Amino acid sequence: MTIEYGMKDGMLLWVRNPFNGTVTYFNDVHRKPHVFGLLTNPQHPAALRPLAPHDLRDEMERVRHACVFCPGNEAMTMEEVMRVTYGEMYESTAMPSGFHGDDWAIRVVRNIIPRVPEECTGGRNESYVIIEDGRHFLPGATGLSDLMWSGVLPAQHYYHLLRIAAAVVRRSLDNPAVQSVLIRKHQGRESGASQPHIHLQAIGADRVFPDVERDMEVTARHPHIWHESVALMRECGLHIEEGDGIASQWSPFGKFGRHFEVIALEDCQPLPDIPDTRLRLFAQYTHRLLRALGTAPYDLEIHHGEGIPLHLHLHGRRYVYANIGGTLNAPADVAENVVAPTRDIVRLLALQTAEEEQRWQG
Ligand SMILES: [Zn+2]
Ligand SMILES: [Zn+2]
Repeated sequence: MTIEYGMKDGMLLWVRNPFNGTVTYFNDVHRKPHVFGLLTNPQHPAALRPLAPHDLRDEMERVRHACVFCPGNEAMTMEEVMRVTYGEMYESTAMPSGFHGDDWAIRVVRNIIPRVPEECTGGRNESYVIIEDGRHFLPGATGLSDLMWSGVLPAQHYYHLLRIAAAVVRRSLDNPAVQSVLIRKHQGRESGASQPHIHLQAIGADRVFPDVERDMEVTARHPHIWHESVALMRECGLHIEEGDGIASQWSPFGKFGRHFEVIALEDCQPLPDIPDTRLRLFAQYTHRLLRALGTAPYDLEIHHGEGIPLHLHLHGRRYVYANIGGTLNAPADVAENVVAPTRDIVRLLALQTAEEEQRWQG
């Protein structure tokens, strides 16, 4: 038998694609609520016409009331496993309006649907949701589609987010049945997000994720592959920014054409073992890229492990098939419809972020 798969009670649990090695897990999708349309349906009358301020307030209140990730609805999620409060991240003078120091700002709960069935991970649900912020809408939102997004969070908030993600990875790896933990994110409905409230996912699995396994195999065979890749992208003008041993670049080595990477070249440990100062720098480079990409839909995946540099893959999800067949777009329009993260924009953001960092540390 060439095709590998796992069964339980006559049901398929997972199957490996014999052609590209990826594994698909099967879940009871009916348990998963898809509320995107309900909350931010662009066809919803509320989304079509500009709302009078008090109507907008009512509509926003209705959405927050229905959103399982919004503060006040904690009982609607699975058990909470971690939280960070605003007081732990923000100066008392910089507290987001309507929030207090002891309100949670980042909250980790188990995913209602384990992305990998419990049967594969020692009978425990090892899928987590990391709610990135208590705010559902942007401050000053003028419509229901003005949602909070990761790049708009302050730099130190984003660092805390990755720190919590690392803690979740450590926690999941404590389960002896878990071999690797993936950090993943979808921004925007087009990328598959089922909840509009900003969140990351952590997924513990009973094997090293095939993409990470491939990273490891290739790195073991060609230890200089990452430096080589960064050098080549630099030479081709596809790098975005570089410093501190970290490179952001557009790279053709993604699943789809509009693929960006942030690579911490010398940080070759699993995410929980990355020293804090290095994680903070990785967070800053990532945060600047996210800010430059704006609100366009993307998916993001953080890869880490012994022997491979900490890195993330980000795929712009608009026009994903634009370069199928190996026809690459010229660098000038690399980011078209993902909002151009030109080096100038990123440099500007770098200055802003440095300022934020200084304020935060000073
Ligand atoms: Zn919400
Ligand atoms: Zn990778």
